[in-house]
Amino acid sequence: MARFAYVNGRYLPHRLAAVHIEDRGYQFADGVYEVVTLVAGQTVDEGPHFDRLERSLSEVAMAMPMSRRVLQLIGRELIRRNGVRDGLLYIQVTRGVAPRDHRFPVQTRPALVMTTKYIDFASQPKFSDGVAVITIPDQRWTRRDIKTISLLPNCLGKQQAADAGAYEAWQVDTDGLVTEGTSSNAWIVTSEGRLVTRQLGNEILHGVTRRTILTIAVEEGIELDERPFSVDEAKTAAEAFVTSATSFVTPVVRIDDAVIGDGTPGPLSRRLLAWYRDYMNGSRQTG
Ligand code: PLP
Repeated sequence: MARFAYVNGRYLPHRLAAVHIEDRGYQFADGVYEVVTLVAGQTVDEGPHFDRLERSLSEVAMAMPMSRRVLQLIGRELIRRNGVRDGLLYIQVTRGVAPRDHRFPVQTRPALVMTTKYIDFASQPKFSDGVAVITIPDQRWTRRDIKTISLLPNCLGKQQAADAGAYEAWQVDTDGLVTEGTSSNAWIVTSEGRLVTRQLGNEILHGVTRRTILTIAVEEGIELDERPFSVDEAKTAAEAFVTSATSFVTPVVRIDDAVIGDGTPGPLSRRLLAWYRDYMNGSRQTG
């Protein structure tokens, strides 16, 4: 249980932490966020997460609430106070508190919240057993590259997956091509052993884990294609998996009613997960 949350300049007991009812994040989902993995008390890929935070903010015409250095110091202090070793650091910046009006307030300070969450990464069967995903229409806006807190379509999709007994929902564009999961990037491995994931653009979030996995794949000499793939191609792929800050590399063993490979995590997915774990715990240098 996290003991403290950082809210607008103060470290507050988690159960007392609150924001104003006219925070624009609450009223308009007018804000952005980041999720940074913590392994053995250390952040994973902190630099790229802060790069993406800065980019998301600039794409929605918001300034960084303070310098990156100070944000990092607050994050470290919160991790220390909460004594969290494995889990995540959550950072959210909204446009701040102002009387409700769609137009941006002329003068308001961005609101900053940070929390931590403990996650027991070691005892998660998803890594060893793999997971099921379902496919659903992508109903989101056209700027999915911005990590906005406006996540209602993602929540609807994830709940639909949960109701179907699946881990994730892969969202599909109007051409029948997979964009990404509701909180993860989507990957397949072809029967020729080529790694495939959708290319960067406004259609998907530029996953930090995706980026690291691509770097590892290149270093390991794995052939890869950054291109869209269809649901049909995914269902007949040799392997499939998802990546995210908290899913790492999670093998996918079923897509809708189609069993992937022999129904167990594929060899390349398992190797990528092992390399990524080495990277996270510092025993592998990458990039
Ligand atoms: N795509 C979406 C829609 C996400 O919400 C996330 C993470 O939350 C990702 C992809 C994976 O991004 P990352 O690897 O940076 O966690």
